[in-house]
Amino acid sequence: MTNEELARRRTAAVARGVASSLAVYTDRAKNGELWDVEGRRYIDFAAGISVLNTGHLHPRVVAAVEAQLKRFSHTCFQVTPYQSYVELAERLNALIPGPGPKKTLLLSTGAEAIENAIKIARAHTKRPAVIACGGGFHGRTFMAMALTGKVAPYKQGFGPMPADVYHVPFPIAYHGVSVAESLAAIDELFHADLEPSRVAAIIVEPVQGEGGFYAAPPEYLRALRRICDEHGIVFIADEIQSGFGRTGKMFAIEHAGVAPDLVTMAKSLAGGFPLAAVAGQAAIMDAPAPGGLGGTYAGSPIGCAAALAVLETFEKEGLLDRAKKVGDQIKAGLESIKSRHRLACIGEIRGLGAMVAMELVREGRADQPDAALTKALVQAAAARGLIILSCGVRANVIRFLAPLTAPEALIAEGLTALEAALLDCVGPAKAGAA
Ligand code: PMP
Repeated sequence: MTNEELARRRTAAVARGVASSLAVYTDRAKNGELWDVEGRRYIDFAAGISVLNTGHLHPRVVAAVEAQLKRFSHTCFQVTPYQSYVELAERLNALIPGPGPKKTLLLSTGAEAIENAIKIARAHTKRPAVIACGGGFHGRTFMAMALTGKVAPYKQGFGPMPADVYHVPFPIAYHGVSVAESLAAIDELFHADLEPSRVAAIIVEPVQGEGGFYAAPPEYLRALRRICDEHGIVFIADEIQSGFGRTGKMFAIEHAGVAPDLVTMAKSLAGGFPLAAVAGQAAIMDAPAPGGLGGTYAGSPIGCAAALAVLETFEKEGLLDRAKKVGDQIKAGLESIKSRHRLACIGEIRGLGAMVAMELVREGRADQPDAALTKALVQAAAARGLIILSCGVRANVIRFLAPLTAPEALIAEGLTALEAALLDCVGPAKAGAA
């Protein structure tokens, strides 16, 4: 089978609503590398959208899953429970920042974690409303979609949205939105539209993922904490993309020294197996009555085994420290590409730990997003054997999600491929003239 043949069959057989950025049909993958059905090798800086902080098929994860498969694959925790779920809950509770006892609920996907975090916050506060940020992404199920702050393609044609969801601007200095303006918008909302005593939760990504890899300034997160404390609102940190060590701390919000009430996790939690979690203050987590939470596959034994192996890998391989090094290497590589070729199309290079991105613009101007170049670069990079992902509300950001386990030499090779791909797109003459 070739990529082209599979693409043809896919067009005929698969709903077009599920889009793929590349027609690279995967045959196998290992750590930071992937091979397609035609035997072509790629360096993988997409990592299944931030799922593989421990790389493809980490040997420790594979061994744990194999051992679990020999014992049982499924019972449903609500029927006959098992130790690994309890043990993982204990491990996650210990990782959640802030004082006081914590509890955990395991699920299967990120969106499901979001749905459940809102259910829990509503059950606890007995209030309906939820505040989220423009540009945020929380998933494709109904409440997660409603909370998502980007219309096309996520919300278009899918309404009506669940009621009582409000959006406020996310502070992004590069785009001229200050922390003071973002906070003023919440104040305005509280006076114009929504009394704070009706608000169950404020949900925020400490680093926006799909929205463009923008880190929330620490003072913004601290202010949200104060607002939540003042009005009895549950503070939910969506760490589905920014969590699990990506930024050099287990959760990105730790950089701000803020303890959220609830944390949502998924993606790299189980190193390539479907698992998600909501964890946080025990008193809040225990608000829903027995039977109100759960799911047939929620907290699958395979996922739990994988997640416990991921946690062990973080400890044994010092992956939190490695995140900083990977981030520094990628940022330095990008800065060097930008300055050596005088590339005015690279507007900003940013990143917290290894959650790194570059924003592509025209003539160095933040208000001139270059979505066409971004799209072309993703394809040009693949032609050079590098898989990268775009993101951003204006579709003009390239994000770098190389596994934290990827060797330095592989990341360097990826950056060389990126440089060549960029020059393929903008041309060396144009690059030099910029
Ligand atoms: N929240 C964030 C911050 C995400 O990045 C994502 C996925 N990109 C989700 C929620 C939804 O997760 P899932 O796709 O596993 O449902």
